[in-house]
Amino acid sequence: MIQRETSVIPSRAHRSPDGPVRTCVGCRKRELAVELLRVAAVPDRPGNCAVIVDSAGNLPGRGAWLHPVQQCLEAALRRRAFVRALRITGSPDTSAVVEYVNASHGAEESGPPVREQVAKNMSTP
Ligand SMILES: [Zn+2]
Repeated sequence: MIQRETSVIPSRAHRSPDGPVRTCVGCRKRELAVELLRVAAVPDRPGNCAVIVDSAGNLPGRGAWLHPVQQCLEAALRRRAFVRALRITGSPDTSAVVEYVNASHGAEESGPPVREQVAKNMSTP
């Protein structure tokens, strides 16, 4: 007796039909990794780190995952979720992530008007 299965689902991944699932550090919802932005911490200056977008997905070390939208970014920044998720200390420079989200946001979607936040001056020690 030949039985054909139309759905190809690996038995060990029954909870993630389309790939690995990660948790967004902004809204704390679980999402497919492909839908999320991976960020990682890199040494910026002594005692401080910069959080950058790991677009290639090959940066070493810890990563955090985030929906590439303003809402989740702001929530993550407000709650210092990057600091906790990436196990870093101090106030990381997150301008790269902010710029990335700002750039990817906009043209396509015409959501509710988001009041733009003025970038912080990063000269404060
Ligand atoms: Zn999110």
